[in-house]
Amino acid sequence: MNKRNDIRNVAIIAHVDHGKTTLVDALLRQSGIFRENQQVQERVMDSNDLERERGITILSKNTAIEYKDTKINIVDTPGHADFGGEVERVLKMVNGVILVVDAFEGPMPQTKFVLKKALELSLPVLVCVNKVDRPEARPVEVVDEVLELLLELDDSERYLDSPFIFASAIGGWASSDVSVKKDTMEDMYEAILEHIPAPEGDLDGPVQLLVTTIDYNEYVGRIGVGKVERGTVRVNQDLMLLNFLDDTKKQKVRIGKLYEYSGLQRVEVQEAKMGSIIALSGIEDIHIGDTLTDPEVQEAVEFVTISEPTIA
Ligand code: GDP
Repeated sequence: MNKRNDIRNVAIIAHVDHGKTTLVDALLRQSGIFRENQQVQERVMDSNDLERERGITILSKNTAIEYKDTKINIVDTPGHADFGGEVERVLKMVNGVILVVDAFEGPMPQTKFVLKKALELSLPVLVCVNKVDRPEARPVEVVDEVLELLLELDDSERYLDSPFIFASAIGGWASSDVSVKKDTMEDMYEAILEHIPAPEGDLDGPVQLLVTTIDYNEYVGRIGVGKVERGTVRVNQDLMLLNFLDDTKKQKVRIGKLYEYSGLQRVEVQEAKMGSIIALSGIEDIHIGDTLTDPEVQEAVEFVTISEPTIA
């Protein structure tokens, strides 16, 4: 087993309007990843039309922040319901979650569904109590409410030591101490590095990658998104694509272009190792839930649906 200390993969869970987009904007902005000509006001995670229409997050979107030579991949999660196991697949890419909770409203039902799945996977939870600048904010009570919720969802008490960060995403600051205001998001980055474990796996083994999301781009066609579970993927590499629904269905494929995430963009890379969240093009018949493997060692990524898909 190897560890990628230069990476953190984390999913963000939040009730609508609790400030997920604003928080990611602030983390991006302060990581200095934006050049002057890049527009941040184009909301980070709301780029999908359908999503905008319904005011909820449907497709998972990835963002990557660089902090102290570490790439923090932030993966969005569907907010309110599970579209055929998507939540589990998204959570399978990460080693922890950030739970964003409004400092006035406290935890809301929409966050419970995804949080429950994260706890079922034993993922560490970093709680971000956001909007502490609101005059009516009651962060201390909200901490208790979140702890109660964690206990309700997992009665083992192991989540009662979960770390808390108090933030004003809109003000661009976060503090590990509820009574201390800060000037930057530094405490938040540090908490991510400290409390979200680095991805672990076999760097040298045969390639294995679970396709978590599908995207489309008019220039390169279908794009598969996922985390490299094992080994190293490379441009032009010959791989076997194992169909998720029909395990007799498989085909030889070749990666066309390979991308990692940087800020809000995908950047082309020649190879990506275990632990990296990547996007790849050149495979037209790629579907959510499929596994890409070494042709010599064809093992599908174990993927168990934790509970039946439900629409809240
Ligand atoms: P999302 O739906 O979770 O992505 O929430 P948004 O980031 O879109 O924020 C919802 C609303 O809350 C917007 O009007 C934000 O300006 C506001 N908001 C976000 N963060 C803060 C904060 O730290 N303090 C205050 N007062 N408002 C915030």
